[in-house]
Amino acid sequence: MPPRVRIAPSPTGDPHVGTAYIALFNYAFAKKHGGTFILRIEDTDQQRSTQSSEAAIFDALRWLGLDWDEGPDVGGDRGPYRQSERTAIYREHVQTLLNNGTAYRCFCTSERLAAMRAEQEANKQNPGYDGHCRGIDPADAASRAEGGEAHVIRLRVPEEGETVIVDELRGDIHFSNAEVDDQVLLKSDGFPTYHLANVVDDHLMGITHVIRGEDWITSGPKHVLLYRGFGWEPPLFFHMGLLRNADKSKLSKRKNPVSIDHYRSLGYLPTTFLNFLATMGFSMGEDQERFTLEEMVQAFDWSHVKTGGPVFDGVKLDAFCGDDIRAMDPQALKDALVKHAFEGRLETLVDLSRERINRLDDFLPYISFFFGGEVDYSSVIGKMVPKKRDKKETIKVLKAYLEGIERSEAARAFTVEGLGEFSKEFAAAQGWKPKELYPLLRAAATGRTASPSLFDTLAALGKDRVRLRLRSAIEALRRLAD
Ligand code: GLU
Repeated sequence: MPPRVRIAPSPTGDPHVGTAYIALFNYAFAKKHGGTFILRIEDTDQQRSTQSSEAAIFDALRWLGLDWDEGPDVGGDRGPYRQSERTAIYREHVQTLLNNGTAYRCFCTSERLAAMRAEQEANKQNPGYDGHCRGIDPADAASRAEGGEAHVIRLRVPEEGETVIVDELRGDIHFSNAEVDDQVLLKSDGFPTYHLANVVDDHLMGITHVIRGEDWITSGPKHVLLYRGFGWEPPLFFHMGLLRNADKSKLSKRKNPVSIDHYRSLGYLPTTFLNFLATMGFSMGEDQERFTLEEMVQAFDWSHVKTGGPVFDGVKLDAFCGDDIRAMDPQALKDALVKHAFEGRLETLVDLSRERINRLDDFLPYISFFFGGEVDYSSVIGKMVPKKRDKKETIKVLKAYLEGIERSEAARAFTVEGLGEFSKEFAAAQGWKPKELYPLLRAAATGRTASPSLFDTLAALGKDRVRLRLRSAIEALRRLAD
């Protein structure tokens, strides 16, 4: 039977390089064996999931050429492929688990749970549900539920013994059941948690191999218990190594840009980026580092897959990309350069410079700060800290602004209007005047004291470039003597 594999991203932020990494390995394995690669959207976290994030995931994976055979936008006969459209399926399935005792209803109030947690913390105990509702007679519990009493449904983890997950890359991994929490499966609003939805979907979608990051290993025992509770054969599990920063910590925004869009907007070639991702977990043999997606598919074999924490090495990525640019045929390179520089933004760049140039030849120097990664702050660094503020406060405000553009609904889409609205509110909330904040943002984002209107400029720079520059402005300020 040809394999059916999936990636299951949650649309809660920018498309993450880790998603591309895991997608690549799923894709290569599926294609090697004539299988099916599925994209499922795990949007059960209603508060954090957004439509724009889902669209950005589709777009980023397509840019890389990792096309899926079944998914929310392409269809398929095991859909729907968006979990928010499958809630009736989960509710129906959880009934099986209640009927056979694998799950139970829990009526604990949030106050009781908070008090329980506080006590566990005070006694330095492991956090986890204390089993208060495990003993309620199922018939009583069902009638309380029918009477409308608010409750969740929890997994009944055996109190003794152990649960083993068989990892095809790492061997058996043993978990003592006492350490596994009675996980909530269905929330009081009738929405499933990740664990229930993930297992039900992997089964109903006919997934044969679950290839995902090692951060999901700890969910493994809960999943194994769920498969057992349903009486289903679990798929084979492969937990890949997580991408890491140079200091071996889990790849994080603070140390490395993690959005695929960042690499795209800085003009890395998608084929190079894929090859770079592949080298972190796959060895072609004989130290061969440069290969295409097709070559990887041809050679794909689990014995060539490495699970040790692969370090995301930006210097290597630059070297790969430089080599690939030099190897391009002149016409293809010309096309790629013009496309990258101007496609979709020439009009904006012309509009923003029209009032400020005197000769045609002024155009390129004027717009140069819209390109490239970091900028030189030497001519503005002395002016970044507003008169009545100090360096520490200025750094704090820049950091808060960086966080704010992730969180604020208005700023997220990075439009001129949205940024204006967000920045005004942000300044007020920080107790800063716009005339203190805006010049700082301009200097940090452009390395200049003058630019077209601030929000036009930020929107045209794009979120990823702005983020990169605000981070490097913070570093430049830190280096500045007090
Ligand atoms: N929704 C999970 C994620 O965001 C999926 C994990 C899995 O592959 O099981 O990565």
